[in-house]
Amino acid sequence: MFKFTKDFNCCKTVSCANFGLSNRNSDSYIQKSERLGYLSIECELCGSNPPWISNSLVKNLIAEKLELQFGQKVVGCKKCSPYYFMMATPDSKLHGFTSAGTQRKKCTHCGGIFTLPDFKNIDALKQVLNSVTEKKEVKAAIQESGLSARLYYFYLNKLSLIFSNFSRLNELQLLNREYLGIHSEGRLLSLNHQRALYHLFSVEIESGYVLLQSNNLTKLAISEAAVYQETTNTLAANIDSDNIETVLLARYQSNLKRNHFEQLLIGSVKPLGRSSAIYPDKVAYTHFQLLKAFTDNVQRHDHFIEHESTLRSAALMSSYAAIKNGSANVFYFLPFLSNAGKLNGQPLGWWNDIWFSNEIGAFSSITRKYKTTPSFKIKKGTAIESYHCYLNNNLNKNINSMQVVNDLSEIYRVLYNYCEDEGGATAASQLGLVQKCYQPEQLLALAIKQLSNK
Ligand SMILES: [Zn+2]
Ligand SMILES: [Zn+2]
Repeated sequence: MFKFTKDFNCCKTVSCANFGLSNRNSDSYIQKSERLGYLSIECELCGSNPPWISNSLVKNLIAEKLELQFGQKVVGCKKCSPYYFMMATPDSKLHGFTSAGTQRKKCTHCGGIFTLPDFKNIDALKQVLNSVTEKKEVKAAIQESGLSARLYYFYLNKLSLIFSNFSRLNELQLLNREYLGIHSEGRLLSLNHQRALYHLFSVEIESGYVLLQSNNLTKLAISEAAVYQETTNTLAANIDSDNIETVLLARYQSNLKRNHFEQLLIGSVKPLGRSSAIYPDKVAYTHFQLLKAFTDNVQRHDHFIEHESTLRSAALMSSYAAIKNGSANVFYFLPFLSNAGKLNGQPLGWWNDIWFSNEIGAFSSITRKYKTTPSFKIKKGTAIESYHCYLNNNLNKNINSMQVVNDLSEIYRVLYNYCEDEGGATAASQLGLVQKCYQPEQLLALAIKQLSNK
């Protein structure tokens, strides 16, 4: 079982001897330095000042989002294996039936007895699925379904759990791979009434399969300082130019205008009811730690991240051990289709990052110095943009509940992966997880069948 990073306050300069070492393992740090006008950990070896991170806040966010993304299991012994990917589910044996006639099983490891999922009222699940695929307003959907509002949301959550469990079970196949390439970018998703969500998305690079999405909402009781309340927008946007060097330099420039490099702000946005919005840097640290679920089990992995300083630190901390032993690389990647201003190892920006470009975009390795163009496995750079468009087109803009946002996002992630046909194939079939493209109702039937037999 892998472990999440506990201490994020360390040097993030890959070439520095202090890289990734916490305060306990190095005495060449100045804790909580204010030399540059913001709270930082100062590395005395390389002179860098990474912003100070509240480890306890990130730890609590990881716990909350871990439960959402990989917990809530409806199959197997939850005592021995509460989360997908983190520990294998032990075998179990048939163990009679409940008084209602549902199959019970006994865990061969701890002897615990559990009941197999029994999905009652499949018609209600189908109705809710229909309202989701037809993008119905929730009020109208509830009226048409004949369900009470409480029951409608109950089945929406059930549908999300069925799809989530189905997809995580399928994704376990990825852990047997020798290599995994992941591409991650952040996006703002606007809702009505000045509400908006900051999302981080990660897709597998050859298929565009959406592995993980994290938003900036939390139900945790967090300190006032941790609650997002800003009016400035420091998101680095691509300027309108067909010259890739010009675009990259403008992105560096917008990063340099910040108070510090991880100060990623999204302008003035209102949080959704009964939840708090957190800062995008905390979303990044949390999201990339959760990605360990996929990367820690494969032999080699590459991470292609948006050209954004905040993601850089979070991605490095997530793959730290693998970077050290040479089995992981992190690249900046900017999808860019125009071939004007081809880059062939040019140093660019404040840090003189070395950039290369090919027909799908520009790349710069954060973890290794390349002298010639490295060969990249990434096939298309637009997968995250497609998924973001899909989510933006489908997600109801009147939502004002974190629970509903989470349920719907997860349902859409799975529908996108398994049902959206692009040139005769879905992301899931390209990734080799399934053989064909499913209609949403077929997918629901398949998921229920698969889960009921586990
Ligand atoms: Zn250093
Ligand atoms: Zn058990």
